[in-house]
Order: sequence, then structure tokens, then C-alpha cells
Amino acid sequence: MDTVYHALKKDLLLTAKTAYEQKLMAGTSGNMSVFLPEKGHMIITPSSYSYEMMEEKDLVVIDLDGNRIEGIHNPSSEWRMHAKIYKDIPRIKAVVHTHSSYATSFAVVQKEIPVILIEMGPFLKGKVEVSPYAAQGSEEVGINAVPILMRKNACLLANHGAVTVGKSIAEAYVNSVYLEDSAKIYHMACAVGTPVVIGE
Ligand SMILES: [Zn+2]
Repeated sequence: MDTVYHALKKDLLLTAKTAYEQKLMAGTSGNMSVFLPEKGHMIITPSSYSYEMMEEKDLVVIDLDGNRIEGIHNPSSEWRMHAKIYKDIPRIKAVVHTHSSYATSFAVVQKEIPVILIEMGPFLKGKVEVSPYAAQGSEEVGINAVPILMRKNACLLANHGAVTVGKSIAEAYVNSVYLEDSAKIYHMACAVGTPVVIGE
């Protein structure tokens, strides 16, 4: 595979390890990918594989129908959600999916996170909405999230986790950091008083 793939894999691997170290993912949960529209390929993290052990060769290249182009592992079981997002929203070139604690706590109570911090505007594109529940690993997870991600860079998946998107893996990752930070601060603010919501 050419140098473009190599560079994207290097960034994806580094981002996956950083997200794990930052505790946005626990165990082997969560997954992330980048999309190469000109080839119709995505590079995605492998299914059930330790982030600490993960190397570039462990990443999987698949097309949007799930056919494996390169790699020794199965792609993340959530590849259908990633594929649906890339098929339907051309501006998106990277997807980060985590079960980060604070964001997921709002997903579990199916409660959106209003705009309480300035950063939520430019990074997340406003309040964070919750997409309806769908079984993990199904295409429905993506089908349900797409209407929100058409307008936003972040979405909560009911009783499951969080998804952030961007034009690059760096952008999708920083959005997941801001999502978790916003969720944490909103959670703490609710504990000490009534948060004041700022406009979209
Ligand atoms: Zn998940």
C-alpha cells in the first residue's frame, strides 16, 4: 500500500493509543477510522484488540461494504456505523467512537447536553443530541446517527456511547475530547446548581 495509507495508519494508531491513555476507551471498547473517498476505503481499528499491543499492521483496510482489502484481523464490529456515516455525509473523513464515561452517562439516560461552554459551538456545532437506540454492530446505529451528524460533529448513541466526526482523525479526536469535557463539566455543574445554558 502506498505512502498515503502509511501516513494515515500512523496517525490513526497514535490517536487510538492516545485516546486509550486518556481513558476515553476502556479495555478494547471504542473504535476509530479514517476514510479515503477516492479509493472508497476506510482504515479502521481491529475488533477486540488491545490498544497497548496495537501496531500499524493490526489496522484493517476495508471498503464500505465490509470487504477486507488489507489486514490480518477482523475490522471493528462497529464498521457498519462508520460506513453508513461515510456513505451519507461526504464532508466527514474520520470517525471516533468511544464509551467515554461522562458522555456515555448522558447517552444512558438519553439526555442531550445543552450548550454550556463556548467550545461547544466551533467544535461540536452546538448542543449534543441523542440518537435512538439500536443494537451494537448493526447498520441502524449509523442510520440513526446520520440525521444528527449531518448538522453536528458529535452525537450520543442511546444506551451505548458517543461518536464524533471530522475532516481528519485529529479533528474527530479533539471533538471527542471536547465532548467528554463538556459532559463532565455539565454533570458537575448539575451537581452544584442549575447550569445556565448559552445560545446555539
Ligand atoms: Zn460501541
